[in-house]
Amino acid sequence: MKKSNLVQNKKEVEGYKKVDTYNQTIIDSIAKKYKAILTELGENPKREGLLKTPERVAKSLQYLTHGYDLNPSEILNSAKFREDYKQMVIVKDIEIYSLCEHHLLPFFGKAHVAYIPNNYIVGLSKIPRVVDAYARRLQVQERLTTEIRDCIQDTLEPLGVAVVIEASHLCMQMRGIQKQNSVTTTSAFTGEFENDRTRSEFIKLIQFKFH
Ligand SMILES: [Zn+2]
Repeated sequence: MKKSNLVQNKKEVEGYKKVDTYNQTIIDSIAKKYKAILTELGENPKREGLLKTPERVAKSLQYLTHGYDLNPSEILNSAKFREDYKQMVIVKDIEIYSLCEHHLLPFFGKAHVAYIPNNYIVGLSKIPRVVDAYARRLQVQERLTTEIRDCIQDTLEPLGVAVVIEASHLCMQMRGIQKQNSVTTTSAFTGEFENDRTRSEFIKLIQFKFH
């Protein structure tokens, strides 16, 4: 296993642990219901492979929705700095993993976020954290896109914000509703990005590959 995978796994485990110690009562309650669901699906929840499944699912669901415990505006405010820079700042290819609120199945892909500062910039690592805070909730891709845009607009009050999300939805792919591997793209803009030239520049830059 590559080292980066190990680090990633460790982070995921810590994520579970954090939520775990916080809400054991809810985990027990969700697990109990999943045990009943397994029985209703015709399974035997007492067979070896399924013994710990209800609790695992409960923990996993808590982790996948831990964005409810995060305050995205606070994340931005924690690293907001006065700066005279007024050019476009782009953070692209931010990995997103979310759950569709209609089927509780994953949708995942990439987010590209840009803003044009107006006296304030934000620590670059905070943008992916804001994306994650909204993605780790029950979502639809459209709302995820506008929530990220609105949070950055309201907190930093920049000259403009642009958000583009490209994602695959397992609820479409696994249930055979659309062609396999289709990607859904959503976008949301404010301010300067409403202007064609600025928006085209942004679109060109997110499509640009360094290799
Ligand atoms: Zn769905």
